[in-house]
Amino acid sequence: MAVKKLSTEKLKHYEEIILKELHESVSYIENINKDQSIGARESSGDLSSYAYHQADQGSDTNLMEQTVMLMEGEREKIRKLNDAMRRIADETYGVCEMCGEYIQDTRLEVIPYATNCFDCTEKMEDKNRRRRR
Ligand SMILES: [Zn+2]
Repeated sequence: MAVKKLSTEKLKHYEEIILKELHESVSYIENINKDQSIGARESSGDLSSYAYHQADQGSDTNLMEQTVMLMEGEREKIRKLNDAMRRIADETYGVCEMCGEYIQDTRLEVIPYATNCFDCTEKMEDKNRRRRR
C-alpha cells in the first residue's frame, strides 16, 4: 500500500489555517489572563460559540471553573495544533492514523488538527459513549 500524502499546495493551505488558529488560541489565553483581574464576564460572549460537550453537565459549575476548563481546552488545542504542524513538516498530515485514508477536506477545514477521518472518529466516539454509560 502506497503511503498517502497531501499535495504541497494543500499542506501549505492547512499550515496557514493551523498557524491562524494557533495565533487565536494563544491570544485567547492571553486575554483570559488579562480579564481575570477585572472579571471574566465580558469575554463570555465569544466563549459561547464554543461547542463544548460538557456545556450542559451540571449547571452549578461556577464561572471560574468554566474559565479554567476553557483554558485547559485551549491549551490542549495548542498542543494538538503544534502536533499538526509537525505532521505538516514530515508530510504525514491529513492522513487518518487509524485507517491510513485521507481525512476529508471538509473535516480538516473545521478541525485542522484532526488525526482521524470522519468514519474512524465516529467509531471511537461511539465506543467512548458506550463506555461512559
Ligand atoms: Zn480513518
